[in-house]
Amino acid sequence: MDKKIPVGIIGATGAVGQRFISLLADHPWFEITDLLASERSAGQRYGDVVNWILPDPLPARVADLTVRQADEGRADARVLFSALPASQARALEPLFASRGHYIFSNASAFRMAEDVPLVITEVNPDHLDMIPEQQARRGWDGFIVCNANCTTTHLVGALHPLHLAFGVTKAFVATLQAASGAGYPGIPAMDLIDNVVPHSYGEEQKVETEPRKIMGDFVDGRFQFADMTLTAHCHRVPVLDGHTEAVSVALGREATREDILDAFRSYRRLPQELGLPSAPDPAVVVVEGMHRPQPRLDRMAGRGMATVVGRIRPCNLLDWRFSLLGHNTIRGAAGGSILNAELMGYWGRLG
Ligand code: NAP
Repeated sequence: MDKKIPVGIIGATGAVGQRFISLLADHPWFEITDLLASERSAGQRYGDVVNWILPDPLPARVADLTVRQADEGRADARVLFSALPASQARALEPLFASRGHYIFSNASAFRMAEDVPLVITEVNPDHLDMIPEQQARRGWDGFIVCNANCTTTHLVGALHPLHLAFGVTKAFVATLQAASGAGYPGIPAMDLIDNVVPHSYGEEQKVETEPRKIMGDFVDGRFQFADMTLTAHCHRVPVLDGHTEAVSVALGREATREDILDAFRSYRRLPQELGLPSAPDPAVVVVEGMHRPQPRLDRMAGRGMATVVGRIRPCNLLDWRFSLLGHNTIRGAAGGSILNAELMGYWGRLG
């Protein structure tokens, strides 16, 4: 790319917003020009208003930007990454899209809308072809593209290689989700330390439905959901970053452990083939030993963009079981949006 594409972040002060800043600070194609947040932060220098929680330093150039109030609906950059709470995204994302902005959203507000692509770049880049239909239906020059819930993202990261190779018919998942998944400041420390907190039903519902849209087909201008049954048990645990998931799967045809290993290890898709700047290669990292994956050891695999799988063994209930782990605010949120935007940029569709 000859000239960097200006981008903005809506919800720039939150847990995911900060990840966007850290991942975009030295991005080869994108340059941060706009930061937007609530009335609480608007009009102030970003470095003065943000409670920066990441270990890497806040880039000086970004610290000096003045935060704009998101609900005024104005930004200079055409490309906007949204890290808004769903309740705010519901009104603000359409406002920006109607004003010609390209929204790459982390919020759940429009994930299941029938004209909104819900995209994991390795899995369903063809769903981005829904954008012209979305624009025509809603009368927008801009668009909304969503990425999945953080738990869904890594679940699909592991299920999709198996689905391509053997067909996944059923999956059972029990999750141990990190504190940062609840945003900043998130769950009070007194509720989470020395504890495990079962999640709301809403989270489980997302994990049971989003994968079927993502792994489904895009035919005749409609999303057709994948024919598989999922059940989820979600829990918040006192881990800072990195969601762990214990998964059992039923497969459409018989597979040996070697077949499953091969499906994970040979999984290379469009982002890897194109060498997109944020693409992990490999996308799925297989770890050996019955004590891996672990959040502290494995969450930064592929610079936080890979899904890590291990403990692959036969299941007494379904066919096979394994553990997976993935970074929730990198691949599970900001990094997933950025990879979607990189593909659109590669295709020349961010002009
Ligand atoms: P967060 O830490 O609570 O941050 C929320 C951000 O939204 C802040 O920048 C806040 O700005 C801004 N905001 C709040 N109300 C606003 C309003 N009325 N107008 C404009 N801006 C407003 O939340 P988060 O964890 O970053 O999550 C952001 C989104 O990503 C959510 O939809 C979440 O479900 C989704 N998500 C999160 C994760 C994760 O692992 N954390 C993963 C996947 C998806 P102020 O500081 O000015 O209030």
